[in-house]
Amino acid sequence: PLWKIRLGMTLYDLLARDRNTAPHKSVEPPPGLRRDGLRGVIQFYDCQVNDARFCLDNLRHAAELGAVCANYCAVTGFRAGAAQVRDVISNLQFEIPAKYFVNAAGPWVGRVAQLIGHDVPLSPTKGVHLLLPRLTAGHGIFFQARSDGRLLFVLPWGDCSLVGTTDTDFTGDPATARAERADVDYLLRELRWILPDAPTDILTTFAGVRALRGNHRAPSARPREHRILRHSENFLSVAGGKYTTYRRIAQQVVDQLTDRPCRTATTPIPAYPVSVEEACREEMALTLEDVMWRRTGWALSRSGGRENAEEVAGIMARELGWDNARTAAEVDRYLKGRTWHS
Ligand SMILES: Cc1cc2nc3c(=O)[nH]c(=O)nc-3n(C[C@H](O)[C@H](O)[C@H](O)COP(=O)(O)OP(=O)(O)OC[C@H]3O[C@@H](n4cnc5c(N)ncnc54)[C@H](O)[C@@H]3O)c2cc1C
Repeated sequence: PLWKIRLGMTLYDLLARDRNTAPHKSVEPPPGLRRDGLRGVIQFYDCQVNDARFCLDNLRHAAELGAVCANYCAVTGFRAGAAQVRDVISNLQFEIPAKYFVNAAGPWVGRVAQLIGHDVPLSPTKGVHLLLPRLTAGHGIFFQARSDGRLLFVLPWGDCSLVGTTDTDFTGDPATARAERADVDYLLRELRWILPDAPTDILTTFAGVRALRGNHRAPSARPREHRILRHSENFLSVAGGKYTTYRRIAQQVVDQLTDRPCRTATTPIPAYPVSVEEACREEMALTLEDVMWRRTGWALSRSGGRENAEEVAGIMARELGWDNARTAAEVDRYLKGRTWHS
């Protein structure tokens, strides 16, 4: 009911009162929104973040402060105060000794904890997003699904729109999570209900796995809060959590491990410049997918197609010494991964 939404928005305004945002207000429905059965439209402000850059900014800042960062390395075990690690590209195995180990492997957290014989009970769910041509002007739309009452969104994302998300049980390897036909049908059906004339040609899709806990049968009812599990004196796991709370989680982890005051709350994270060359030289990009999805985010834009991919691959070839065959294979693999097949 509308009163519940208004109450929620008033609480939201109270929580956001120091954040310089205008309070919520009732507005006219934006163009294209189905009027049939519409009870009201409330406008409020929120923020969004490019998760790929957000991750890189954190890593680069950590490196500047003295951290040693490595990608394409998998922890395969622990022995006598050292993590056993395999470079998944060269297959080289090595050990990293450490005083403390923090297992922050997201939805893989249980698998890594298993390496020391501990369980992290999770009830993971898969979330799917669709990338569509731009559907709204500067605003997003947050709405309730007709079929199951879940909250869905249409968000401006660069020159496109993101529609999401699903929330369904997922028990496989998180690396294999993909948008399935049923996920896409569900999101498009709900989208067509609120924006009947919206173009629905999918540019691409992506799926992630939420490391949720709790055994509530309905996925959307499972708590989103994080939990820190201290398995032993020098080993802990972080399960669950959100981008919105990750710095608090980091602080709690540091506070558990050392008496030295944690500087997280007073340390802003700089935004680092991004270019293909920079990604290769400073951000350990090794594949075209690294650059398109995880360094620039161009995969999630209208610049994510073949033309730009070939240009980017050309720059990477010069930076990383790829021959023509490798360059073509990178483009093929990237385009295959980006195309959604029903
Ligand atoms: C669909 C979806 C929507 C979301 N929406 C929001 C949102 O709107 N707002 C919000 O705040 N949060 C949201 N989240 C949550 C957010 O994505 C997570 O909180 C965040 O990604 C967690 O970051 P992380 O680094 O802890 O884990 P991840 O990003 O999952 O990273 C874990 C890393 O561990 C690596 N790893 C796994 N096994 C090993 C191993 N053996 N050795 C070495 N490395 C390993 C993986 O390769 C991966 O890179 C959403 C999540 C999903 C899935």
